Amino acid sequence: MKEFELIKHFFSQQKVKRKDVVLGIGDDCAVIAPVNNHHIVVTTDTLVAGVHFPLNTSPKAIGHKSVAVNLSDLAAMGANPSWISLAITLPVIDESWLTEFCQGVFELCEFYNVQLIGGDTTQGPLSITITAQGLTPAGSYLSRAGAKPGDWLYVTGELGDAALALQHINGEVELNSNFVEAIKERLDYPAPRVLVGQTIRDYASSAIDLSDGLISDLGHICQASNVGANIVLDALPLSKIMRDNILTDDAINLALSGGDDYELLFTVSEDNKVGLETALLHLTTQVTCIGQINASKTISTTLNNKPISINTAGFEHFTRK
Ligand code: ADP
Ligand code: MG
Repeated sequence: MKEFELIKHFFSQQKVKRKDVVLGIGDDCAVIAPVNNHHIVVTTDTLVAGVHFPLNTSPKAIGHKSVAVNLSDLAAMGANPSWISLAITLPVIDESWLTEFCQGVFELCEFYNVQLIGGDTTQGPLSITITAQGLTPAGSYLSRAGAKPGDWLYVTGELGDAALALQHINGEVELNSNFVEAIKERLDYPAPRVLVGQTIRDYASSAIDLSDGLISDLGHICQASNVGANIVLDALPLSKIMRDNILTDDAINLALSGGDDYELLFTVSEDNKVGLETALLHLTTQVTCIGQINASKTISTTLNNKPISINTAGFEHFTRK
């Protein structure tokens, strides 16, 4: 199979269903129809084998994750995902690998009505770059800037499981074999919080998606918004597997510093809090208030209502004051 057959067989398989796609895969460029009174929100993320996913990750998971990390960025802006482009570098043409990879890509695309409109295919060490575009009503999008002292800090889902999976894969922690699959699923198949992003768009004062860990990504909100924050460690949402199998200190460290969660972190003013919580009621995604923004320009943490210092540098420890 040659490059053009490969593109036709694997990447052109998705029917064009969106009316705003004038011309899809097959020409020099794709043509999309701009939507009146909307912004187009654009993001690009690259996944390199062995860096962004372990080398033995299943092709389907790689396909899913490549799309998911981009949709997660769009979710953090409150955008409705619309179109993706896929630049892929493959070591060899392995048809069964490509079949599974495409399953992962297209399952997520179909779920969110996202069209693959183009890309590039080259040979070399495995690497995947996706550019995703989405829409928001003009003037209405979320950003990292906008958090104000007094705003409440929220996070979706549960934190730290993906980092726990990575530690397990790297042989750093032992996990009961009953739980390995469920925990690996959280690393391999992150759920981009697209619907939450759209739902909070008109209520939240700032938002970011968690790719590098809570402390690090909250730091981006604080820097962009020129504020600080306090995290209530007792409130951090931890999975049942995490709570039942990992020492509390280690679990909190994973939740604070572990990457790859792809949950949304966002802030909301006291005035918008009830509106936001009401709007979220029709979604099934868990949302937890984990702290509050303040004017300090630093990130602090409390446990049992007492200040506690943490090592924000990384995974290893946090020490009680
Ligand atoms: P060009 O030489 O003009 O860049 P290509 O031969 O690279 O065109 O690609 C032909 C068509 O196939 C284009 O429409 C391109 O967008 C699409 N395409 C190539 N690789 C991919 C891919 N990995 N995923 C989706 N579309 C692709
Ligand atoms: Mg090309």
